[in-house]
Amino acid sequence: MIEGPRHYTERSSGPLIGVLGGTFDPIHYGHLRTGLELLQRLGLDEVRFIPCGTPPHRAEPGTPGPLRLRMVRAAVAGQRGFVADGRELERHGPCYTVDTLRSLREEFPSGTLCLLLGMDAFLYLPTWDRWEQLFELAHIVVAHRPGWEAPQTGPLGRLIAARRTAAAADLKSSRAGRVHVEAVTQLEISATELRAGIRAGGDPRYLVPDAVRDIIFETECYAEYDREERKG
Ligand code: ATP
Repeated sequence: MIEGPRHYTERSSGPLIGVLGGTFDPIHYGHLRTGLELLQRLGLDEVRFIPCGTPPHRAEPGTPGPLRLRMVRAAVAGQRGFVADGRELERHGPCYTVDTLRSLREEFPSGTLCLLLGMDAFLYLPTWDRWEQLFELAHIVVAHRPGWEAPQTGPLGRLIAARRTAAAADLKSSRAGRVHVEAVTQLEISATELRAGIRAGGDPRYLVPDAVRDIIFETECYAEYDREERKG
């Protein structure tokens, strides 16, 4: 069962850290714009972009982790508060977010973590490993994404009803356990479609930062069918 609201009362004294995980194959402006709007609107001290190693719920990314991390580094360079974080790539076996949050809590013992999720990812939360523990480790911030609405019924509807806060300040005054839903500018960019478009000879310009586009062309990492498509 999900813990009650005792975590709301533990006060935070350290930095407020946004955690934005994903396959980032490749990172694109949908991820970056969401990270920036949440950084500014929620008053986060930083947003950590964490490419996942072996995701538990989907096919392994076709692009090697170090190359995805390189693209994330290139994408966040120069933006104050944006951090490329490669910790999940050092792990063996499936990457579980709960372990990533624990490792961040160890590194930032006085900090407060906000797990930043698109609505599509949030809808699958109950399928995540040890998902109830997420609320002991972090707040959850759900960014609206094109085509997705906050659930009003079912386990997630109840979760939102019990834990939702409309006040971003609540994320600073407690360590974990709240759910905050924030509408962000909607950029309907999908990494899957990006990869397919590049394979078909398209140019990803204006969908990804130029520095990421340069890496894509230099390495030709999407020139061939990736693992996902081979499986399909
Ligand atoms: P794929 O198409 O391969 O599934 P993706 O573009 O959805 O990739 P991921 O790297 O798997 O990207 O997603 C990481 C996080 O970014 C998730 O929380 C997801 O909801 C969010 N996200 C993905 N695309 C967008 C977008 N266009 N706008 C805002 N958030 C997004």
